[in-house]
Amino acid sequence: MNHSVFRDLVPSYIENLTSEETNKQIENHMEQCENCRQYVKDMQEDLLVERNHEQKKEEKNVDYLKKVRSKNRKKIFIIVGSLLSIFIGVFFFFDQMWIADEDDIQTTVQQQGTTVTLSFKTKNNHRYVLPMSILYQNSIDEIIIYEKWNDFSEPARILEDGSNVTVTFLDENTLILFDGEEKKLTDEDKITIRYKNSTEEIKLKDLYNPKNK
Ligand SMILES: [Zn+2]
Repeated sequence: MNHSVFRDLVPSYIENLTSEETNKQIENHMEQCENCRQYVKDMQEDLLVERNHEQKKEEKNVDYLKKVRSKNRKKIFIIVGSLLSIFIGVFFFFDQMWIADEDDIQTTVQQQGTTVTLSFKTKNNHRYVLPMSILYQNSIDEIIIYEKWNDFSEPARILEDGSNVTVTFLDENTLILFDGEEKKLTDEDKITIRYKNSTEEIKLKDLYNPKNK
């Protein structure tokens, strides 16, 4: 089993959805490969944290995430803002946050070369925005916009970084997926931005302007 097949199977494996035969192969690979062993460990920890915060969260949010997860069980990963916010994030971000009202959020789209950055800012003082991206088949499927009280003295700048979501294109018809593969875009490919009582859909094709390249 190679690393990429292994990694595709890990989400199912840690949810106990894989067959005994597959489990054997996965465990064989882990014995030989330290990177993949660590990968599984990290994902298990993420899942634990996720389960833990899920229990504490508003019933509504939990219901929503459950729905998404059971729908796309094998392919869903949830990431928080930028990589940086994952590091500091899992320990305190999930505490006391709520899905933001669309009226409270200002969204800007900026393109630099082939990278498009969606930035979310709150119009309220003493809060910050935390966009949670839900990936489906290695591209962003949905972004849930959370708000949280800014009750930490230090990380204001870090939180600022965490309020961006970036999407990289090859050209106007091609998206670069998170695993580095290319995906030809159709009009059906879009990102749904989810707020408290509303959603906004953006066609991926509309995000990228070849003239700005
Ligand atoms: Zn490996």
